[in-house]
This record gives sequence, structure tokens and C-alpha cells, in this order.
Amino acid sequence: MKHDRQPLSVNATDANQRFSRLLAESEQGRDVVITKRGRPVARLVSIGSDASTAAPLGVPAGSDVPDYDKRMALIETCRRMNATGLNQGTSGNASIRVDDGLLITPSGLDYDKTSPVDIVKIDWEGKVLRGHRPPSSEWHFHCRVMAAKPKAGALLHTHSIHATTLACLSRGIPPFHYMVAVAGGRDIRCAPYATFGTEKLADAVLAALEGRLACLMENHGMIVLGRDIEDAFKRAIEIETLANQYLKALAVGMPKLLTVGEMDVVLEKFKNYSAWADPKK
Ligand code: 13P
Ligand code: ZN
Repeated sequence: MKHDRQPLSVNATDANQRFSRLLAESEQGRDVVITKRGRPVARLVSIGSDASTAAPLGVPAGSDVPDYDKRMALIETCRRMNATGLNQGTSGNASIRVDDGLLITPSGLDYDKTSPVDIVKIDWEGKVLRGHRPPSSEWHFHCRVMAAKPKAGALLHTHSIHATTLACLSRGIPPFHYMVAVAGGRDIRCAPYATFGTEKLADAVLAALEGRLACLMENHGMIVLGRDIEDAFKRAIEIETLANQYLKALAVGMPKLLTVGEMDVVLEKFKNYSAWADPKK
């Protein structure tokens, strides 16, 4: 049988030469965007330049959108949540406190496709003050929790595997390990189930966060607060690790729990332990 298909031919030499030219430009500090059929597909950031401040594709660096750095911090943290396995897909959301409300991730938008102008600014009632996309469906709990915790600068919500597994078993995290204190108390509670995006869920979360910086949400995921978004991210990693360890311990037997007195000593020590000092301070 005769095949009419042309043999595949790739002019590797031309492509390599073009890439080398672009690489050289980026090494000279130029912001280089790689295009395919006229459309931007990647950005080269030279080593030594501050990669964290590079703008996403299609958004000029130094864009004059208000709170540009905070918007970028939100996007980069959400991408890190997915890259580190703390979250997946478009699940989860995040917010950062600003003067007159919150900057919050848009609803259902792939974090890799989110640019600073997609971040939504809302007031404390969830009213959009600036933005062209709907805010996260969880704006109720972001607004309620951040209003109730004035020293918290950021809130992260993830569907991380281990914390969510525990939440699906209706379990919080008891003091099986002293690091439970990173959530600000002797345990990490699990808020009872309520439909995502509802005021009822916000009520449940607020109660579970009483005196705490993190909680689980039954059949859903986790919520973490921090003095800023970096602090919240670090705390989320620790809580996911605790959930993983607790599940492993439960698989073998009943882990020994620390006493109230033992946890109180840790909580006292954490007040002056820079890594986990409470943002309430
Ligand atoms: P959003 O995309 O609307 O933020 O929803 C994700 C989520 O995790 C809802 O709980
Ligand atoms: Zn969720």
C-alpha cells in the first residue's frame, strides 16, 4: 500500500540557532518572549535576574495595575501550591489583605493562565471593586475570616491530598505531634460539611478557626492563614505534612497524643520562636 504522507522534516539547525540567539539576548538581561506562529508561548528569564518578579505572558513587566506585587505574589503562590502537590488543577483559592478589602483569585481560572489583571479586588461584603472576572466562589469565607482576623495578611485554601483525606474521614488533627502548634492551638479542627461557596460554610469555618490559624473542612480541604502569603504557604506545607504523618500513624495503630500541659509548653515556646510566631502578635 502506498503512503502519500511526506516524511517528517525538522530543521533542527535553524531552530537551535534561533534559540541560541534568544538565550544570548536573555543573558544580556533582555526580557525574551518566545513565540510560535506569532503567539507568545514561553518567557526566558536570565539567571541572576529576579525570576519571581517576571510578569506572566502578555503582561508588561512593571504594569501599572494597582497592587501589582501582591497580585503577582497571589499568582505565584497558587502556582507553587500546585507545583508542590499542595493543590491540583483549579481547586483552591487565595486572598491577600489590602487597604480597603481583599485581592482574591478569580473563580475557576487555571493558575498558569492567570495574570495580575485577572486578580479581583473585593470589599468586605464581596462586592467587586476592580476586576473583569468573578471572584473565587469562596469569597464568603475569605471575607468573613479575614475580617475576623485583622492581623492575618493572607488566606490560602487547598484541596491537598492528606488534609483532604482526613477531612473526608471527618477527622481533624489532634496533638499527635508538637508541630500541631503551627495552627496556633492544641489541635486542628475539622469544620462540619457545608456546600462550597456558601455562607453556611463560612460560618462553619469561622467557628473551627476560633483561636486558630488553620482548619480542615469536612469532605473538602484545608484553610490556612498567615501574616503574609509566604507565611501562609509555609504553614500549609506543615499542615499537609502533619496530615500525612497522622494518616500513616493511624494506619499502624493509635498514635500517642501529647497532653494539654505538653502542648501548652510548646505553644508558649512558639510565641518566641521566629519561624512560627503567631501573626496575632
Ligand atoms: P474557585 O475556583 O471558585 O475559587 O473554587 C475552588 C474551590 O476550591 C471551591 O472550594
Ligand atoms: Zn475548595
